[in-house]
Amino acid sequence: MAAPPRPRRLGRLGFTIRGAMGLAHGLGMTLSELFAPRDTAPYPEKRLEHAPRFRGKHMLARGPDGHELCVGCGLCEAVCPANAIRVVAASAPEGATVSWTERYAADYEVDLIRCIFCGMCEEACPTNAVRLTPFNELAGFSRADMVARKEELLRPAVRK
Ligand code: SF4
Ligand code: SF4
Repeated sequence: MAAPPRPRRLGRLGFTIRGAMGLAHGLGMTLSELFAPRDTAPYPEKRLEHAPRFRGKHMLARGPDGHELCVGCGLCEAVCPANAIRVVAASAPEGATVSWTERYAADYEVDLIRCIFCGMCEEACPTNAVRLTPFNELAGFSRADMVARKEELLRPAVRK
């Protein structure tokens, strides 16, 4: 029986041409990527716009008369899947008006490390008091830095 034909071997020239073609292909790809538009931006000099539905740091809103909209009902705390909100409700001191009802949030905290920014607190709030703003520059040197207190939430952070 005749032996099967041996595969054709590439000579030295074949290897050289194939190597040069591979090199040219790689170089072409590098050059095209070098001049392609970038998806990144040199932060913080340039900040990319968020999608309109982006959910960032929370704020507690006030009404047009300056009263706090939060009435301390605790619905946001109850609905939060990450257990990130703590509300301490109280009755307004005698003669004082804090919110637009007799009850208000004496203390309010959002743990921004636990929070998954789902927006359920915003959806559950009956007075539209807690809102998620586009602010996303969240950083701190300790865990405690990442817990937003009521005073801070009443002064919403603004993106530069
Ligand atoms: S956005 Fe979601 S996870 Fe964050 S505090 Fe609100 S309900 Fe909780
Ligand atoms: S933020 Fe809204 S849901 Fe949460 S305690 Fe205040 S009023 Fe209730």
